[in-house]
Amino acid sequence: MTIKFVPNDPLAKNGPPVRNVRPRADRSAGLADFSYTGQAPEGVYNIGTPEFLYWQCREAALLSVEVWEGIDGKLAAWGPSSPKKLELLQNAGVELNAGYSQTGLEFYEFTTGSKTTFSGASTDVVAHEAGHAFLDVIRPDLWNTSFPETNAFHEAFGDCMAILAALSDKQTREELLKATPDLGKSNFVEAVMEDLADGTKREFGASFDGSAPRRALNDFKWQLPTTLPTSGKPSVLTSEVHSFGRLFSGCFYDAIRNIFLASSSRTPASLWKAAQVAGKLLVAGARQAPETVRFFQSVGRAMILADQSANAGANRDALRAAFTRHEIALGSAAMLAPRASLAGAAPKLGGAKRGGILTATTRDDLKRRIGAPPSSRMSVTRRSIGGEQVAEATNYRNVSLADLSRDLRDVVVVVAEPMLIGSSGKRAALLSSMPQESVTTDEVHTFVQTLLEKDSISFDRDDGAKPATRGIRSAGARRGATEAQPRRRLPTHTVRVRGDKKVLERIRFVC
Ligand SMILES: [Zn+2]
Repeated sequence: MTIKFVPNDPLAKNGPPVRNVRPRADRSAGLADFSYTGQAPEGVYNIGTPEFLYWQCREAALLSVEVWEGIDGKLAAWGPSSPKKLELLQNAGVELNAGYSQTGLEFYEFTTGSKTTFSGASTDVVAHEAGHAFLDVIRPDLWNTSFPETNAFHEAFGDCMAILAALSDKQTREELLKATPDLGKSNFVEAVMEDLADGTKREFGASFDGSAPRRALNDFKWQLPTTLPTSGKPSVLTSEVHSFGRLFSGCFYDAIRNIFLASSSRTPASLWKAAQVAGKLLVAGARQAPETVRFFQSVGRAMILADQSANAGANRDALRAAFTRHEIALGSAAMLAPRASLAGAAPKLGGAKRGGILTATTRDDLKRRIGAPPSSRMSVTRRSIGGEQVAEATNYRNVSLADLSRDLRDVVVVVAEPMLIGSSGKRAALLSSMPQESVTTDEVHTFVQTLLEKDSISFDRDDGAKPATRGIRSAGARRGATEAQPRRRLPTHTVRVRGDKKVLERIRFVC
């Protein structure tokens, strides 16, 4: 039996057409899996029907996992906050969006005039949301980050997964190389979510931020996010996370391109090889990079170190050129060199895993230097970066949001400020830059400002925790007159009480 499958996006320009395929098998027992709703018997259904949408979304989700496992090995479990089976909701209600909520991947439908957009019908969108889930597996600490660049990286990572999912398809690579043999021209692979962007443009107009497909082949140059506008039309780089994320997906696409152009042949097969090399480095970098405010650079440097230990640095020039094109400098040679001595003895990094990694003297010294009260929470773990063991001490700072909005006057965000510690001689030594309270505060305020501007914070607990409608809608169902107007955006954050504090926390990523 076969099903109908859209391999890229319903509006991918010059992409491979809709095809009939044998659907992928269910996941094996014991592995991370999906739970399905609204199943239909296997068959070739018309696009726009609920049966088509079920099979399309399932196929795209299983493809995404297959691509991930090709890079990182078998996926035994979803992130630590997720169940064994993520809900795959191919149609969770009326929104012009899609999301990842730690319990499921959520897709929606939205009608403007005569056109209904189904976000679950785009392999791009499904792979992007799955990308959020994969990153949550390897970096659960990034779920609640409040730095613009780290959040933008989460979005870029989703787009990178969409690009990898596209490139995993042989016909896609053939069509792509026919259109642009050196990958230097705009194309349907580096453009993601064309159909959803079209729906957004129809509903909100061409100057709305999501009204053009995001492009990884771009000329955006990195700039401090605190110096950018917090919103703007698609052609403008802003500090909004999807917009700013294009810088990193740009670096990733250019890395694939540079690795491909440096290979001995320019065939569809060597393109897939280049994409996998870049994908493995991306995942290694994402896994190992310390979460500094400059996270793009942090990941880029970790990718260079990963390439050094895995490939003897074979792709260093390709990576550097890719990041340099977007003005992200990767001077990684001295990344883990001591910068300043700290009080106390060298951290315990190897051998016995018992006892404190850092001495109390070193911890107190770190808190004093970054202006944290002696009582503030600091966690210490061992981390391996490019094959080297270091200690990572993370201070948790409460940043007040009172200045940003009346609704947030008694709300804080808890921000992780990590520092890498190694040794110089027998003394502890700082290997990374020192977090600064003013920088942390500025970055967090910029991020929260973008959330306020997009109306992304739900101030009503029930409102934000779940999508507007739970469960599966039949495709093509119209909004009734009594139904609430759909939000412009799905909320991504809410305010929760934690102990004696009110804290801003994430509830989902959206596309
Ligand atoms: Zn997203």
